[in-house]
Amino acid sequence: MRRFLCALLILLMLLPFSSCTREEPQTDTVFLMDTLITITLYAPREVATPIFAECRALLCELDALWSRTKEESDVSAFLRAESGVTLDPRTAALLQTALDVSARTDGAFDVTVAPLVELWKACEEAGHLPESSELQEALSLTDWSRLQLTGTRLEKDDPRVRIDLGGIGKGAAISILLSYLESTDAAGGMVSFGSNVAVFGQKTNGETFRVAVRNPVEGKGGYAAILSMRTGEVLSVSGDYERFYTIDGERYHHILDPKTGYPSESGLCSVAVVCADGALADALSTALFVMGEEKALAFYETGVYTFEAIFVSSDGSVRMTEGLTERLSQ
Ligand code: ADP
Ligand code: MG
Repeated sequence: MRRFLCALLILLMLLPFSSCTREEPQTDTVFLMDTLITITLYAPREVATPIFAECRALLCELDALWSRTKEESDVSAFLRAESGVTLDPRTAALLQTALDVSARTDGAFDVTVAPLVELWKACEEAGHLPESSELQEALSLTDWSRLQLTGTRLEKDDPRVRIDLGGIGKGAAISILLSYLESTDAAGGMVSFGSNVAVFGQKTNGETFRVAVRNPVEGKGGYAAILSMRTGEVLSVSGDYERFYTIDGERYHHILDPKTGYPSESGLCSVAVVCADGALADALSTALFVMGEEKALAFYETGVYTFEAIFVSSDGSVRMTEGLTERLSQ
């Protein structure tokens, strides 16, 4: 009997480990922020289930803060405000990054792009291109230097100035999710959030996480590169091939050049950025897309931010920053 008890105890002690290595990864999918979000965890189901619930709760909180349409969001409160609002600290941190990237990219990324985004949406509904007067008004309000962030207080110099977090919110959210996931008992996992992907920890079979970056140009083999991802890193992609305004049968992509008010025509069709900070990865992918390959590579050389990038030109050719070459996998 004692021997049997002993054997049982050993079996019980081994079970969690053996089930962990045998376990298939667990996944959860949710649609929020206009985007399909998939979380994959290397953890037994009983560990993963409460983690998924917490991730959903976190995502709902962020969506409630950053949504353009929810009345109670920080974005809507700022839209209604005459001069300013006090933001949730997470929104303030995101705005801090947004304004920093705007300043350093000479406004290629501009978080006050909302009037232009709304104008293109309205034009899609009305079925005509923006009038020059409409464009001029939206352009005059698209200027990050009209915002002033002091701690969590965000002020504007004109009540009509408003913010759009479409180019940075998903990346910021993925990093917030990642810090939570790193504190859990899951061995590792991956979060895919529209055009943003991040990994943490390890797979239980010891393999590294690899991510394929798409080459959207037909006949170019389907992907531009396959990268091995490091824990905590975020990969963000900005491309001209997924979100559009359709006007008179023509497609106008959603990354706007704040200098012209029109969809950016920089000769690129996709930019991927890898960076330890999700908000920065997301904002930079949008900014580098607008800057175009040469300016973007010169910007990389300045070393103002630590990141790596892959550029796909409209003809399908691929270039990448130096730090990435050693990270490519087959
Ligand atoms: P995705 O939304 O597909 O992940 P991006 O991260 O590049 O792509 O973000 C594009 C979104 O960012 C647009 O839909 C719009 O809401 C906003 N946006 C467009 N142009 C700019 C810009 N120049 N600077 C900041 N945000 C922008
Ligand atoms: Mg972006």
